[in-house]
Amino acid sequence: MREEDIPTLECFLCSKPFKYGFHFYEGRSVPQLAMNLCRDCENSNWDGIIPSERITKHLRDKGIQAPLNKNGWIDIPPIGSKSN
Ligand SMILES: [Zn+2]
Repeated sequence: MREEDIPTLECFLCSKPFKYGFHFYEGRSVPQLAMNLCRDCENSNWDGIIPSERITKHLRDKGIQAPLNKNGWIDIPPIGSKSN
């Protein structure tokens, strides 16, 4: 597989496209929140995503109830956790 054939996803938070496939995993898809996150955003939001109006609307549109952590932020579900 050539590098340019690797699918790209767009980060929900920063809109940066990142490669996702083969051995290029510059981020991941988070089905529990119906969004893709690049590694930078996941790392900088390790203690939770601040529920901005855009994110709140996104989750509401998708019918997702995301529990808030003790800071009132949305926890990013760890890799391999069960969806829903
Ligand atoms: Zn990002």
